[in-house]
Amino acid sequence: MHTLDLVAPTTQELVASGLQLPVMEAFYTIQGEGRFTGNPAYFIRLGGCDVGCVWCDVKESWEAAKWPVLSIEKIVEDALAFPGRLVVITGGEPLMYNLDPLTKLLKEKGFTTNIETSGAHPFSGDFDWVCFSPKKFKKPHPSIYAEADELKVVIYNKSDFNFAEDHAKLVNPTCELRLQPEWSKAAKFTPEIVEYVKNHPTWKISLQTHKFMDIP
Ligand code: SF4
Repeated sequence: MHTLDLVAPTTQELVASGLQLPVMEAFYTIQGEGRFTGNPAYFIRLGGCDVGCVWCDVKESWEAAKWPVLSIEKIVEDALAFPGRLVVITGGEPLMYNLDPLTKLLKEKGFTTNIETSGAHPFSGDFDWVCFSPKKFKKPHPSIYAEADELKVVIYNKSDFNFAEDHAKLVNPTCELRLQPEWSKAAKFTPEIVEYVKNHPTWKISLQTHKFMDIP
């Protein structure tokens, strides 16, 4: 006679299926950049990133193993403690994970779901708004181009204008196009971005207004 061995899935398996995720931090604040600037939003910052931007301002997010792994039920329960119903999933690079289960649960609870991603991994999740911010340091996965509602290119040096145009050719025609000065280079590049947008009016400017307000 055989006994049926029921083996509980490991944390690694639960993370692989998107039922548990490493969360670096989660906080309720005001969205400071992009299309939803000014809206109260609950940010879920997932740990782990393999993109390696030299100017990254959340380098501590890179190593996923440093952060606690939470069930998606716990992540959503924590979000429900605040009155706003806009959630922004960011990182790190959130598309390193299968975001289907988390976004399904968030939507069941009435949240509007946004993501901020470099697009460096296959797309997953059910999102109302996809902010795609490609990085030179790791090529985007082709699945992101059809999903992007907003293309946000960080301008850190002059060649980033061409990089922005190259990606603008690949996204949907309805995708909103934004150029954002990298914070440490804002004094140098903001005047150039202003001139660029005036001369290339399909683009808009995105500023990191939360940094001016000194909020997370
Ligand atoms: S993709 Fe984002 S988290 Fe990853 S290195 Fe670049 S800026 Fe940092």
